[in-house]
Amino acid sequence: MHTIMASHAGFCAGVKRAFKMTEEMAGHPGKWYTWGPLVHNQTVVDYFSRQGIRPIEDIDDISEPAGLIIRSHGVAPEIIEEARNRGWQVKDATCPLVKKVHVIVQTLAAEGYDIVIFGNPQHPEVKGILGWCGGEATVVSGLDDIKNLNYSRKMGIVSQTTRDEKEFYEVVKGLLGRTDELRVFNTICYATQLRQNSALELCQEVDLMIVVGGEFSSNTTTLYKECLNTGVRTYLVQDAGDLNPQWLKGVKIAGITAGASTPDWIIKEVLCRMTEYEEKDIQQEVQEQMQEQVPEPVIEPQQEETGSNERPAEEANEELFARMEAEMAEYETPGRGDIIKGTIVQVLDDEVMVDVGGKSEGVVPLRELSLAAVDSARDLVSVGDEIEVMILKWDDDGTILLSKKRVDSKKVLDQLEEVFEKGETVSGTVKDIVKGGLIVDVGVVGFLPASHIEDGYVKNLEEYKDKTFNFKIIEFNRNKRRGSQVVLSRRELVLAEKEQQKQEFWDNIQEGQIRLGKIKRIVDYGAFIDLGGYEGLLHVSELDHKRIEHPADVLKEGDELEVFVLGVDTEKERVSLSRKKLLKSPWEIALETLKEGDIVDGTVVRIAPFGAFVELDPGVDGLVHISQLADYRVEKPEDVVSVNQPVKVKILSVDGNEKRIGLSIKEAQREMEEQEVEEYLEQQE
Ligand code: SF4
Repeated sequence: MHTIMASHAGFCAGVKRAFKMTEEMAGHPGKWYTWGPLVHNQTVVDYFSRQGIRPIEDIDDISEPAGLIIRSHGVAPEIIEEARNRGWQVKDATCPLVKKVHVIVQTLAAEGYDIVIFGNPQHPEVKGILGWCGGEATVVSGLDDIKNLNYSRKMGIVSQTTRDEKEFYEVVKGLLGRTDELRVFNTICYATQLRQNSALELCQEVDLMIVVGGEFSSNTTTLYKECLNTGVRTYLVQDAGDLNPQWLKGVKIAGITAGASTPDWIIKEVLCRMTEYEEKDIQQEVQEQMQEQVPEPVIEPQQEETGSNERPAEEANEELFARMEAEMAEYETPGRGDIIKGTIVQVLDDEVMVDVGGKSEGVVPLRELSLAAVDSARDLVSVGDEIEVMILKWDDDGTILLSKKRVDSKKVLDQLEEVFEKGETVSGTVKDIVKGGLIVDVGVVGFLPASHIEDGYVKNLEEYKDKTFNFKIIEFNRNKRRGSQVVLSRRELVLAEKEQQKQEFWDNIQEGQIRLGKIKRIVDYGAFIDLGGYEGLLHVSELDHKRIEHPADVLKEGDELEVFVLGVDTEKERVSLSRKKLLKSPWEIALETLKEGDIVDGTVVRIAPFGAFVELDPGVDGLVHISQLADYRVEKPEDVVSVNQPVKVKILSVDGNEKRIGLSIKEAQREMEEQEVEEYLEQQE
């Protein structure tokens, strides 16, 4: 047995396009539905159901706004309008060839023609066409239906795209006697015609025809009937499972065709099953005839005759389709939610008039002009500016209410969605404090939960207000109607930044460096100094050369302080600091200020057999030798001075290297007495 495939079978361009658009929507956010089954083929419907896209017959079936895909058959404009009014997104996959019929009937209705639609009144495509001429048309499905038609002065006829051309012209002929003027639009799709022609040709070569497709598909059933009418035994199968091997008994050549709503994978499945039957058939023949030569099984596409114009016809059809698609885009009236371009023709304080290219004018009220609040539209735009606007509403007088703000918002959301998907960061300014976090302006309003502001608890949210930071987007939902669409976080970035700072800190810190730090915490044994990402310890003993009772006596939390790096332990991650190292020692100060011959105040701090030690400054002592205690011979220093006694001393010598200062009480007293005598004598004179 040979199996021959019809040269034109399966998905047409319109169905392919709708199928592709629906597949794209499967990965799109939100819930999506098709208006009725996408095509009249249960396998395709099941395929999309598994991806979450189910058919609906009524918008009321779904309570929440969702996405609606209009299948290639098209729908009445009211359905699209209703969906948009309810906040649904609409993806219009109406076949451009069907859309062309919509435009024709709209024009005929506007010009006062009585419209006749040749087709099945129950078919969704016909219902859609009726909607585009306001329901003012008569649907006829055959010659019988035109008998009762009233006489009309001018009449126009279109056809359901999948109808038989011969029948269409029979109806046209029948209408001729019923009107003065008849405008005929043959809107039958070439794709359907091609499938029918190639199936009919194939019928002349085969003993059996298999038509693959849904039983409710108009073009499939037409194909089936056409093949049956040729007298060839014909079966309609939905898929390979419907094939009955009994049908093939005695069949030498079988033909396969498929309706425009039948996907490739089903056709291939049927073809494969037929091949299996062929092989069984051959094996049986081999067994029966043993020595007989058995021809190779052949599956071949229907041969196109040399010089045949079928291939060019197919190409012409594709070309026509592409052209239609482009033309239809111009015919389309933008609807609610569509974004269009326009030129500003007038700017007032509270609104902007926009020329959107049609007969109607658009108005953008001030509140819909920009995401930021402004006092006057004149501050933002000027006459002649080109802007993109979203249609909010068509008024009865033809005025269109527009929004630029929503287009801007959509663009910002598009960018934020990309940032979210790529895991990048976005900059934003904290605008307000609300329960549980902060409101951040990232082009649109974003929410920053309090737990995501820093890497720990934040006590005072006020200090973040009006400041700009970078954020990660941790939740993005552009379909959410309530609450925040964009949820932000700084925590991860703060942690990463800290880790980087820490790494840099340990790479750069070295003993002997002088660093500027911030006093973080004061404890009894010292203070922790933030050196920019990491804390070092400043021990109390390293605070000063003199003894410090408590670090808080000389330090204050939050103050900045220069410190000397005493030691670095990278393994234990410890840094010891000193403030003392950066202060002059009492001896250094003393050496700068004390000069030999000066008489200064001091306090006796210790007594030794050879003299008394006198403190001149904290930490700086000098020695008054026993011979310098008085101007008479002293047996024991205690006879002249006692500990804690304040004394006047003359500096006899300063040895900076040895840190020794020689002092004399005797000399100081003598000089002071001489001074007194001198002053007295000066007064006498
Ligand atoms: S009009 Fe033709 S191309 Fe468009 S969906 Fe119908 S059969 Fe397919």
